[in-house]
Amino acid sequence: MGLFSFTQEIAIDLGTANTIIICDDKVVVDEPSVVAISTADNKMVAVGRKAQQMIGKGGTIIRTVRPLRDGVIADFYACEMMIRGMIKMIPKQNRLFTPSIRMVVCIPSGSTEVEIRAVRDSSEHAGGRDVYMIFEPMAAAMGIGLDVEAPVGHMIVDIGGGTTEIAVISLGGLVCNRSIRIAGDDFTSDIREYMGRMHNIKVDDPTAELIKINVGSALTELPEDQVPEDFLVVGPNRMTALPLSIPISYQEVAHCLDKSISKIEAAILSALEATPPELYADIVRNGIHLTGGGALLRGLSQRFSEKMNIPFIVADDPLHAVARGTGLALKNIDKYSFLMR
Ligand code: ADP
Ligand code: MG
Repeated sequence: MGLFSFTQEIAIDLGTANTIIICDDKVVVDEPSVVAISTADNKMVAVGRKAQQMIGKGGTIIRTVRPLRDGVIADFYACEMMIRGMIKMIPKQNRLFTPSIRMVVCIPSGSTEVEIRAVRDSSEHAGGRDVYMIFEPMAAAMGIGLDVEAPVGHMIVDIGGGTTEIAVISLGGLVCNRSIRIAGDDFTSDIREYMGRMHNIKVDDPTAELIKINVGSALTELPEDQVPEDFLVVGPNRMTALPLSIPISYQEVAHCLDKSISKIEAAILSALEATPPELYADIVRNGIHLTGGGALLRGLSQRFSEKMNIPFIVADDPLHAVARGTGLALKNIDKYSFLMR
């Protein structure tokens, strides 16, 4: 952004769980994808972290909305408000006065024409003058420093909140991809349901998410140095409403997450099956890259590696990989033919 430039340039990772904005190579906004809307006049009262804190607490006066579900826009109006609100959160020193905004927004690789249109419209309504789009796995690959234009196959598995995106990239294009609606949010709801069913304790998503982060595991047997302490869950008894507190071990959570993780494994295998042999050889040699918040689940990369006999590598800072790549695309807009207008 030069002194005499009147175009603000931003990259947006519009995730189902988190929205990240990059400006001049820096993360300037990193907030949960939530808006709080007043039911009386349909106006936005809060966005991001502040709105997230209102989940379940606003009664009928304020409703909290996650505008993206399963990777696509579920609530168009809320999404537009959210993008607008997030753009306003860009710190002053990174923001131009009444700018014309050029943006690169990433979209899930399985998006239909209609879904892509919805992202474009939302972005334009929120102030984007010049909107480009990039597929998420492509952005993730760039964000972890892979040369996406080389004649070499790379496989990316991005496990976000609502979707898991699996793609093979070579020569600047997606060679094959799978997008399934099983990801981090499903792990959370598996835990919530399990706590009710097995322990009669009523927990909501924020607590289930805490359990996942503290004692979540993809393996029932973790290496000694990765074993977390049991986590004490406090909540009402589902039947009597009396308080309960129950220590939960990682082994229990591993059992409860097994089904969802198996579905992700099946999707990865299906993508591998569809991969041309030359690229398959590259992937086995270089390993499969895990990005997105779900990649942080304990034991996940080990479990996949053992199951498929291919190394799985968790990206550094997996939560920001897609955003970083989207930022790189923004800086080289004219260079990359895979950006869509
Ligand atoms: P999206 O791109 O869909 O917004 P993200 O890549 O931001 O998703 O990942 C969000 C998901 O990652 C959420 O489901 C969150 O619970 C999960 N997550 C974040 N940190 C961890 C962790 N340490 N262990 C397991 N899951 C995590
Ligand atoms: Mg994402």
